[in-house]
Amino acid sequence: MPYAQGTPCGAEKGKVLPLRVEKWFQGNARDLPWRRRRTAYGTVVSEFMLQQTQVVRVCDAWRKFLRRFPSVASLARARERDVLAAWAGLGYYRRARHLHAAARAMMALHRGHVPRTRHELEALPGVGPYCAGAIASIAFGQREAIVDGNVARVMMRVHGRAVDLTKGAGKRWVWKRAQEYVDAARDPSHANEGLMELGATICTPRLPRCEECPLNALCSARRMQRQHHIPKAKVAPMRTRVHRAAILAVSAGWMAQRVLPAGGLWAGLPFPPMEESGRRLSASMVAARMGVDAGALDRCGSFVFQTSHREVHFVVWRLDTRVARHLRQAGRDGWFWRRVGSVTDAPSTGAVRRILQCGGTLPLLR
Ligand code: SF4
Repeated sequence: MPYAQGTPCGAEKGKVLPLRVEKWFQGNARDLPWRRRRTAYGTVVSEFMLQQTQVVRVCDAWRKFLRRFPSVASLARARERDVLAAWAGLGYYRRARHLHAAARAMMALHRGHVPRTRHELEALPGVGPYCAGAIASIAFGQREAIVDGNVARVMMRVHGRAVDLTKGAGKRWVWKRAQEYVDAARDPSHANEGLMELGATICTPRLPRCEECPLNALCSARRMQRQHHIPKAKVAPMRTRVHRAAILAVSAGWMAQRVLPAGGLWAGLPFPPMEESGRRLSASMVAARMGVDAGALDRCGSFVFQTSHREVHFVVWRLDTRVARHLRQAGRDGWFWRRVGSVTDAPSTGAVRRILQCGGTLPLLR
């Protein structure tokens, strides 16, 4: 597509943008499982999963989740721990809880159907303005705007304006552009999905591929050679550092687990027992907290796991098997025991997988 010296602006640009994106999307849409046979429920699940998670990680998880819970009703009936287990590997488990609660709300309020309007969608747990706009437009073809990071970036670049999305005025500006865009679309579903696709694959944050972009003749950032400066670089988030000592306690093929308490990181998920502290814990400190002899602990590895707000420094300790057997027989508050194979075959989170890998010898313990 040729590069034009002058770019249309304002209303003229607003009308042309969606038509170009829709045409481009028809020939360039990635083959993603939820696009093959579009259903409203499949769209809801994909939109929950895609928040803060890359498409490549979502594809397999989406297929497995839909096999396990093929309908709103089956998800609504499920136990929370089964929903969390089916979410394994995607992180941000609050989304899984919200999706579960949304399914129950759809059963209670909409006879198991996904509601069609933004207003009804936004009333569901975990559905914000972006998610409601995406479901309403993609699943039902409604003229509803969506603004996520990809859409905001494309809009700012095309209009040559770097707004601050942490401020009300910046948010209003980009939502207004996104609404004008979808209002001018032939097919709101393709226009919105195509815009997200363009931001994810062509107009990427660091290396926009302007030569291949269907909007290059309209793009103000490109005309001004400002595409690498719009939007402005974000300040890296400050993460709180915490230390956790994870205990691998295994007895005769059974491994100790705890469900992490509500309100904290990984709440409600099964983990090996852990001690948390603001500073690194020595063997004697971990042993004292657990009420065992320091000699019963063997350090088998460490790693750092980053979440959106925390930097978690893990040290992994293996508990002497005789002590583990004693604790298993005596019982311990909050602990339960699972077959080692069932824990290692389906770790509840990436952090648990790293803990198990740290052990290194875990396959020998089966
Ligand atoms: S021309 Fe470049 S900067 Fe402009 S929208 Fe396309 S990829 Fe993004």
